[in-house]
Amino acid sequence: MTDAKIRTRFAPSPTGFLHIGGARTALFSWAFARHFGGTFILRIEDTDVERSTPQAVQAILEGMAWLGLAHDEGPFYQMRRMDRYREVITQMLAAGTAYHCWATPAELDAMREAQRARGEKPRYDGRWRPENRDRLGLVVPAGQQPVVRFRNPDDGEVVWNDLVKGPIAIGNIELDDLIIARSDGTPTYNFCVVVDDWEMQITHVIRGDDHVNNTPRQINILRALGAALPVYGHVPMIHGPDGQKLSKRHGAVSVMQYDDEGFLPEAVINYLARLGWSHGDDEVFSRESLVQWFDGSHLSHSPSQFDPEKLKWLNNHYLKRTPDETLAVWVAPRLARRDVDHSGQGGPDLAAVCGLFKDRASTLEELADLAAMLWVDPVVANPNLTDELAAQLRPEAMPALHDLASRLSACDWNAVAISGAIKETLAAHQLKMPQLAVPVRLKVFGRAQTPSVDAMLALMPRETVLARLRA
Ligand code: GLU
Repeated sequence: MTDAKIRTRFAPSPTGFLHIGGARTALFSWAFARHFGGTFILRIEDTDVERSTPQAVQAILEGMAWLGLAHDEGPFYQMRRMDRYREVITQMLAAGTAYHCWATPAELDAMREAQRARGEKPRYDGRWRPENRDRLGLVVPAGQQPVVRFRNPDDGEVVWNDLVKGPIAIGNIELDDLIIARSDGTPTYNFCVVVDDWEMQITHVIRGDDHVNNTPRQINILRALGAALPVYGHVPMIHGPDGQKLSKRHGAVSVMQYDDEGFLPEAVINYLARLGWSHGDDEVFSRESLVQWFDGSHLSHSPSQFDPEKLKWLNNHYLKRTPDETLAVWVAPRLARRDVDHSGQGGPDLAAVCGLFKDRASTLEELADLAAMLWVDPVVANPNLTDELAAQLRPEAMPALHDLASRLSACDWNAVAISGAIKETLAAHQLKMPQLAVPVRLKVFGRAQTPSVDAMLALMPRETVLARLRA
């Protein structure tokens, strides 16, 4: 079902990198818009000038691009829309849905103190509402700039049917008259969100449930503006494996760090999609399937748990399905960072090496570590090589090693022929596979464990193998 009128937004505050929680919110908003053939908008909520940085904006854009979450409109920057917010405030003042308030901080403190003493919930008492101000005979203090407050409805309830949490009702008695512009004229957070959601004609607001308390206030302001209400969906938090709120300690780091570690965007997307949403028992699915299925149903209302092992498992799945040539392109810079030069003439073919190892690597970093084996000298790779060889190479296997070297000098150079030479050697010397294969691995690669030794040797130049075996 398409509905081109569907408009969603991702509205990050640029105070840090794009982390897993933000990326999940972005993904849900994106997938929902794509599902209906609607519009996905990126809005940068940079009004907190103390904490917003251009670097964070860049990090967010970079993270979105890496994940492949392209926006159709924006990025819109709230700081560039100040005139428009002021205009709406002026209109609201004229319409009586907002009013000036000159209450000083000291006065507000005293008000709250008195309320607490009476056992009431502290809240602004509406004294500067036009009707009260006259009744109370308040006088505008000279030289003091007022704040602007929204005139919240006094009674009734704000009710909405949350896409995730179901029906929610908040009594207006719980909400006091929110400040929508500070005394220096700058509009406040909730107000900017409202004006933007209204003017950008957002139909579905999907965001973290840390915003659920803002929603009744935002709905009241939207109503005062005569705006159509979007549907709200508040997605529960992501917790770490220990059940605590996801934090840096759990790896709640920049999505770009997942790039550094060698996760593929497709794996991260697949993983994030399952954090708080499900489609039957499907665990592994493409971006296209997600878009096809993501219609706003099956969103979980309980917190989801971040499971690094599952992300690794998924990443391995996507690595295995990636063509060897593509993996080679991705692994090459990672080898270069390890000072491994894989470009030598006649050396192992990186694509073939990636093909051999991709089953056992969870990340491109792990793949690069494994692949490096083919280029790093065994003596350099393993500082304990002499000791390990002494322990693994039994004296009776020495003649077999020499025999194998001569068979390898004569056979065809491919895994099948090499396997044949190994088997003949084992039979001639009455040895079992590990008695020969472990010393061979140690001598040629510096490691006791590698994928199948015949396939490994076949990737190496014959001369190198022979030289290392005979060394
Ligand atoms: N700027 C808010 C944040 O980063 C999101 C606001 C919203 O989605 O309504 O948490």
